[in-house]
Amino acid sequence: MPLQEHPHLRSASRPRTTGVPAVFLDRDDTLIYCNSVTPDGDLGDPSLVELMPDVYEALRTLRQEGFTLVCVSNQAGVARGRYGPAEVDRVNARLNEMLDGMIVDFRYCPFHPEAVVEEYRHPDHPDRKPNPGMLLRSAADLGVELARSWIVGDKPRDCEAGSRAGTGSALICGEHGRTAEGWLMARDISDAAEAIVRESRLATVHLARQQIQAERAGVSGSVEERGGGEAEKPRGETDVRSAS
Ligand SMILES: [Mg+2]
Repeated sequence: MPLQEHPHLRSASRPRTTGVPAVFLDRDDTLIYCNSVTPDGDLGDPSLVELMPDVYEALRTLRQEGFTLVCVSNQAGVARGRYGPAEVDRVNARLNEMLDGMIVDFRYCPFHPEAVVEEYRHPDHPDRKPNPGMLLRSAADLGVELARSWIVGDKPRDCEAGSRAGTGSALICGEHGRTAEGWLMARDISDAAEAIVRESRLATVHLARQQIQAERAGVSGSVEERGGGEAEKPRGETDVRSAS
């Protein structure tokens, strides 16, 4: 049998997965400057939108790697009455214009426990990070496989939302390593993108190996049923990100 036609190699090159992988991106002070351009961190003016360094290139790397890009942002400025949903949409549109439309879905949460605008007052809205509502609904709408997906943000609450949704998390914090929660620590967004690509490739190899083992176990299992050979038990499901 020619090497490239071996069934195990075919499996290894095309691991079985369901759904597309996504990277969920926090917006303010992850993709665009916020706290340094507005006194209170509430950005509702599209003319103030400025990409942070290397954001365009990092997102292009993630797109090329096959990730769907989604922006998930807490927008308590709406709850504080500083601007309305239309301004949030305008800022997001300006941002995506600068990114040549690389982000396919924008979600934001206007709710806050101490909202001035009563309709946006909520003690613990399921969409407000660290709650995972925005990620879960976007994933359902776009056919995203959360176990192969990631969140990137500059606050622990971004990473926590990812953990609650079942994604990996990368915290942009100026340092390298891992937090006690197991989140990747990244110096900046390019560092985060590189780490995500690296981890995802490792996870793909790991998943392919698992499938080969499961297929081999299935083959020897059917031999055993016929009265010969020892069956290797297929492994249980493992988190594909725990590959390293
Ligand atoms: Mg932020």
